[in-house]
Amino acid sequence: MSLVPFDDRDGWIWLDGQFVPWREAKVHVLTHGLHYASAVFEGERMYGGEIYKLREHTERLFKSAEMLDFEIPFTVEEIDQACKDTCAKNGLTDAYLRPIAWRGSEMIGVSAQNTKIHVAIAVWDWPSYFSPEERAKGIRLTWAKYKRPSPETEPVHAKATGLYMICTISKHAAEKAGYTDAMMLDYRGYIAESTGSNVFFVKNGALHTPTPDCFLNGITRQSVIALAKSKGIEVIERHIKPEELADFTECFVVGTAAEVTPVGEIGEYRFTPGALSLGLADDYARMVRREAVPA
Ligand code: PMP
Repeated sequence: MSLVPFDDRDGWIWLDGQFVPWREAKVHVLTHGLHYASAVFEGERMYGGEIYKLREHTERLFKSAEMLDFEIPFTVEEIDQACKDTCAKNGLTDAYLRPIAWRGSEMIGVSAQNTKIHVAIAVWDWPSYFSPEERAKGIRLTWAKYKRPSPETEPVHAKATGLYMICTISKHAAEKAGYTDAMMLDYRGYIAESTGSNVFFVKNGALHTPTPDCFLNGITRQSVIALAKSKGIEVIERHIKPEELADFTECFVVGTAAEVTPVGEIGEYRFTPGALSLGLADDYARMVRREAVPA
């Protein structure tokens, strides 16, 4: 990954309906979104000139904003078009896209009724979240310090910036201990997800994946479930206890950034990337590029 800081690059960022030079896309220090995490965002990928599941991502952005009690001052169609235009303006056909919407600086305090809602879209080249070596062997995960909170605690289905505080802390601790990522349990102690992707397990040819009742039901997760079902693979969504990990042979994580990445270990449990994980990883790579997926 490039070490060039994200505020010091060439290119154009779409900001509130206009393109601004990359380095000039700034916010004030007294921005409500910065102080009170009143911000929602998306992570999308364009493959060969087409943004995968663009409409689903844009709709999720709008729903996330609604859950945080603000309204995006554009239509879904306008944001879809702006995403495509931002890729074109930057000359990219394979890219990661980061739309974000946040409350401005008209008010600073818990109440933010009269803040202006801003929207920005940035795109950049981001080939793979994990290195090819990590993908081949399966990434190593440790247990996260924090748990996914109950739906009574926060808007768990929003892709909102504040919800990532526990992810960053958990991922940092994992990296400091030599791991790639951390597996989070939920507030009941069931397996939930990693700090930025959903998780699947394999047992006797079937996929098992946690029920997304207190974390993001990822767009990639939904795509992988549909893909597996189309290939006649059984998919079981249920609550999974950590001790059950001993019964699974394969494991992989899925997300827009992570795509389909095999997992080699989670804490004390070991997995071997096998036919199902590697097959679905290849199929997913074909599907997002609109290539035929073998039956
Ligand atoms: N969980 C978390 C915490 C995430 O950040 C992401 C990435 N957005 C996902 C799951 C996967 O979501 P998607 O497949 O929609 O990218």
